[in-house]
Amino acid sequence: MPIKDFMHTHLLDSISFSLDRNELASKLHVRGEDLAVEFQHFLSEAQEIARPKGLYKVSGITAKRETSVTIEQSTFSSRVLRVNLEKANRAFPYIATCGEELEQWGYSQKDMLKRFWADGIQMAALYAAVQAIRDHIDEHYRTQDMSMMNPGSLADWPLREQRVLFRLLGDPRSAIGVELKESLMMAPTKSTSGLFFPLEESFESCQLCPMADCPARRAPYDATLYAKKYGEAIP
Ligand code: SF4
Repeated sequence: MPIKDFMHTHLLDSISFSLDRNELASKLHVRGEDLAVEFQHFLSEAQEIARPKGLYKVSGITAKRETSVTIEQSTFSSRVLRVNLEKANRAFPYIATCGEELEQWGYSQKDMLKRFWADGIQMAALYAAVQAIRDHIDEHYRTQDMSMMNPGSLADWPLREQRVLFRLLGDPRSAIGVELKESLMMAPTKSTSGLFFPLEESFESCQLCPMADCPARRAPYDATLYAKKYGEAIP
């Protein structure tokens, strides 16, 4: 995977990525021989077009207060993030995307079923980009025990903090084609932003999120965790 390094910023714009036909067919409920053949052609087309991308930075933590943490010159307000970064002296802000190419291709689909398939394929490309960033950090910075948080995943760290994250990362629009809209939504829509950070005891925002029946849940909700770990002020 060719990587471009600018000081401590890494641009991953040639991520090797392979769509898993069986996994996607199962997730997208592709049934019957005729549909399976059509799906295979659709996947091959997507594979040709897809250019998932990622951008991340190695950033020093410069200040820690009770409910905020400053990374370089950027201050994030989140008690949970602050506690999770208690022992860290650096973090890895990142943005990952399925890429504008796949987004435009999805919009060009007229058929509802194909739009649904395109959506699933875009998600797979986005996951590949997030994984590529994580692997690159592991390989180059030897931080195997890493967790991540995303602005907007918890009320404690609201979506508006994406503005701070985008500023910290410079010019994501030029680097990987990701723009933060006034609405705080990203374009392409299958993009994600957040922070990776070293943490011995793994953390998922889902542990603090009570949302029922979330299809993307990565860890069970722990109703006592906030009070146990994040409720007390750090002396
Ligand atoms: S449970 Fe779902 S909504 Fe809640 S943090 Fe996890 S992925 Fe996000």
